[in-house]
Amino acid sequence: MDEPIKTLPLVFEEPKGPRGPKPKPPRHLADLTPAERKERLEELGLPGFRAKQLSTHYFSRLVDDPAEMTDLPAEQRDELVAGLLPTLMTPLRTLEADRGTTRKTLWKLFDGALVESVLMRYPGRTTMCVSSQAGCGMACPFCATGQGGLERNMSTAEIVEQVVAGARSLARDEVPGGPGRVSNVVFMGMGEPMANYNAVMGAVRRLTDTSPDGLGMSARGITVSTVGLVPRMRQLADEGIPVTLALSLHAPDDELRNELVPINTRFSVAETVEAAWDYARKTKRRVSIEYAMMRGINDQAWRADLLADVLHSYGDWGWVHVNLIPLNPTPGSKWTASDPRDEKEFVRRLEAKGVPTTVRDTRGREIDGACGQLAAVES
Ligand code: SAH
Repeated sequence: MDEPIKTLPLVFEEPKGPRGPKPKPPRHLADLTPAERKERLEELGLPGFRAKQLSTHYFSRLVDDPAEMTDLPAEQRDELVAGLLPTLMTPLRTLEADRGTTRKTLWKLFDGALVESVLMRYPGRTTMCVSSQAGCGMACPFCATGQGGLERNMSTAEIVEQVVAGARSLARDEVPGGPGRVSNVVFMGMGEPMANYNAVMGAVRRLTDTSPDGLGMSARGITVSTVGLVPRMRQLADEGIPVTLALSLHAPDDELRNELVPINTRFSVAETVEAAWDYARKTKRRVSIEYAMMRGINDQAWRADLLADVLHSYGDWGWVHVNLIPLNPTPGSKWTASDPRDEKEFVRRLEAKGVPTTVRDTRGREIDGACGQLAAVES
């Protein structure tokens, strides 16, 4: 590499405001278990049994207008809604691509923080790509979100609300293809999900809890993507929830990965890949290795060979597959996508060694799908 890459210090803790801790997002029923929802209403002097009706409106009927909640007494409706269904975020802007089947929304949270989510509808499935933090502390130099640092963790309900908003627009037939539902959720928007572990696990529980306590999704349809926070990967393996794990590897050698994914200076390629392998063994879920192809940086044929060797050292190919991501260049950066010929050769080398490999389609490229770029432009 010709010039050194400047990296930001890694941040694990939320930065504190000038006058101590920042105010917390409003508490919402999606932050709470069914029993806690009931308690919350009772604390507010409201009847606890209404919690179930509110959950049904939120998770099953996908209703957000109090006027449609006609099973709640009119004189108490506003208080009940304010108690458990406060407004968490407002859409600032929605961009569409692929004839409306890719929709990216820029959200403003209660404190002005900006995050984004992307809905992608394919024949037979619809995926929501969600954010788990406003900003990110991992400082990967090719990622737009990584350049701004961490603003704050999102709450469980703020994470869930992105999925519910997508589910609402599908249910209301606002996305071409007829009324539908969200089948998949990927934590590949802004933020490092494993650095906001408890809120993310809360969100996974709400997404998979049966309706009307939650959205009733299958854990298998949920993918948590991480830079490789090894202790958290191990903790996730012990949760007993079979979500898919995606590891953002981007380089098979420590020298390059230390620059592309700075957390690698704490957890090496070997430690990280071993934790991914343990995850696959424990959960019986195939791990996805994410590899963003960057021209002249990590796309050499010898690195394809090394990647295959590193992965193969952990057993046969049943445990893993490689997902190559064409780099989405961030404005003003020196990072660009690989030459298609180099990409082809990289795939050929991996496949020659037997590695199951896919190249991610570049949905929503023209709207900077899922790389933190819209929020970066606005702020
Ligand atoms: N922090 C998590 C999830 C967020 S990003 C993680 O790193 O896994 C989801 C994926 O998009 C990651 O693999 C990330 O490295 C990749 N990514 C980030 N910026 C990108 C860009 N400009 N082009 C292509 N992929 C990018």
